[in-house]
Amino acid sequence: MDLSNIRVVLVRPTHPGNVGAAARAMKNMGLRQYCLVSPSGFQHAEAHARAAGADDVLDGARVFASLEQALAGSRLVVGTSARPRSIVWPSLDPRAAAAKIVEESLQGEVALVFGAERTGLTNEQLDHCHYTVSIPADPEFSSLNLACAVQVMAYEIWCAASQFVPSVSPVSMESGPGTRLASSEELERFYAHLEEVLVQIRFLDPANPRKLMRRLMRLFNRSRPDDNEINILRGILTAVQQSQRGIFDKTRRESQN
Ligand code: SAH
Repeated sequence: MDLSNIRVVLVRPTHPGNVGAAARAMKNMGLRQYCLVSPSGFQHAEAHARAAGADDVLDGARVFASLEQALAGSRLVVGTSARPRSIVWPSLDPRAAAAKIVEESLQGEVALVFGAERTGLTNEQLDHCHYTVSIPADPEFSSLNLACAVQVMAYEIWCAASQFVPSVSPVSMESGPGTRLASSEELERFYAHLEEVLVQIRFLDPANPRKLMRRLMRLFNRSRPDDNEINILRGILTAVQQSQRGIFDKTRRESQN
């Protein structure tokens, strides 16, 4: 099965050895699309030593300045976390996540995101994810080495792809016929527009936007809107802005009279 729509994204990896070992883990499991967000020294000898034959995947890695750029074009984003954070983000176990990743990769780009060695993914980085996944481990010592975590997830993806039976309908249950799920850039633009309007109508305090925006992003990420639905929502926001402007102009005219 073709796994080329599945990208592995490492956010700010600090050890070149891990970057190399993750490339090897990917290649073992048929994954090739490697994205690195601000890595420290990935063209390091240690990275190549640990890639051990997966230099093509390592050399083919695309480097981005931000996570948003690395996610561009992806319809599904899954973040990994050593600690279960299911209270805040919908979570899947590794097997279910791999099945979903494989299924959705038939329809478009999918990203599996890993955090930095010391800090993991921040809440702001997890905001971009539709789901989180934690590899079950001893609760007293649940944080795996970064490249080992890549290996476990890549293996699950390999297994899911080998067992994959396409469903009767090629269209995902979450989007209707003739539509496609909104991409991460479309969602980001919608969130920016939503935040702008919520500030304009004074529903949101610009000094403290994060909590409300996080809840709203979670809501929309959970519902997986398609491109038509995002267009409708953006249209509503634009109409709100136009009517706000109308009210503003009217009050200004009245105060001038
Ligand atoms: N202290 C950090 C650990 C970071 S480990 C934390 O608590 O999140 C570096 C990365 O490896 C994590 O961001 C995650 O992408 C991956 N990772 C490590 N252990 C994992 C686990 N048990 N399940 C899923 N991903 C894991």
